[in-house]
Amino acid sequence: MSSAIPRALVTGGAGFVGSHLCEYLLRNGSAVLCVDNFVTSSPANIAHLAGFPEFRVIEHDITEPLLVTEPCDVVFHLASAASPRDYFRLPIETLRTGSHGTENALDLASVHGARFLLASTSEVYGDPHEHPQRETYWGHVNPIGPRSVYDEAKRYGEALVSAYRRERGADTAIARIFNTYGPGMRAGDGRLVPAFIGQALAGKPMTVEGSGEQTRSLCYVGDTVRGLVALAASGHPGPVNIGNPRELSVLRIAEEIRALTDSRSTVTHVDAATDDPQRRCPDITLAEQVLSWRPEVSLTDGLRRTVKWFQQRFTGAAE
Ligand code: NAD
Ligand code: UDP
Repeated sequence: MSSAIPRALVTGGAGFVGSHLCEYLLRNGSAVLCVDNFVTSSPANIAHLAGFPEFRVIEHDITEPLLVTEPCDVVFHLASAASPRDYFRLPIETLRTGSHGTENALDLASVHGARFLLASTSEVYGDPHEHPQRETYWGHVNPIGPRSVYDEAKRYGEALVSAYRRERGADTAIARIFNTYGPGMRAGDGRLVPAFIGQALAGKPMTVEGSGEQTRSLCYVGDTVRGLVALAASGHPGPVNIGNPRELSVLRIAEEIRALTDSRSTVTHVDAATDDPQRRCPDITLAEQVLSWRPEVSLTDGLRRTVKWFQQRFTGAAE
């Protein structure tokens, strides 16, 4: 099968989004080299891809320089802790991965003359004063709070990518990914969807942080992956928002999950997270215009698929 991206390298390829991206690329005819140190994932996440002859995995910490001999057309740089629970636990590592790691991944792309795509985040907008968030918004970020290790690492990454593009003519793209969910998330990673599904299935109280009036816009992982590949296959530098523009309160998301799981769990309010963004919703006009991309999977469908995956994991049933 011929592919728009014959050979891809995916840093963070064993993680939640990365494993879906590797699978999508392999199914569409790309050869894929996955680079990961498994700090927030495990080899089991990509075990199902072992049957693809064009899939190779290197265990490597991207904060150390990397040379690979295989040619490569696109470097997707996803390596980074992404769940608040993970980056609170790994603050210095997260900063180093976003800075040294991004530089090493950019150098790797340069050596191969490959296009480079940074998986950035809606967190660059911080607790936004502009709503919905467009790519032109510069953000409202606390540079010294606990979330800063992630937010500022990504902002630095965006600056570095932009400098490589300006100064060295590197072919780069920045995707600003909004909250993504789906099968393959770790039950214990602490993010909203796996936390609520795990609690609902176990009949435990669903821990809503703060009032629950804060909002998020949830994008199904298959949609996010399509957006990343469309951006990589385009010549667009970004930044481009990749997310679902349907905005819901955290309380409403808890209720959706409780209904889909037929759970009797109650909602319990716990302390709000420090510097928690109060509203988050992408303006995806740019992605629609330059990538002809928009999400296709409804929240109910996506949550159903995710709940089913977690149920199968809990009961040990075949997936
Ligand atoms: P994840 O934690 O599941 O995956 C991250 C992967 O990167 C893991 O496999 C981890 O082991 C690897 N990694 C971390 N540091 C590394 C290092 N120094 N060297 C090599 N590998 C390293 O997270 P995810 O949800 O899959 O997120 C993937 C990317 O997408 C991240 O860059 C994240 O910032 C971005 N993103 C994700 C979301 C989301 O909602 N999932 C939203 C915005 C941005
Ligand atoms: N949240 C919650 N309970 C949880 C986990 C998360 O109420 O068990 C809230 C959190 O306070 C935030 C939103 O859900 O307002 C999204 O949190 P998540 O960690 O999924 O990602 P974030 O968007 O903050 O990076």
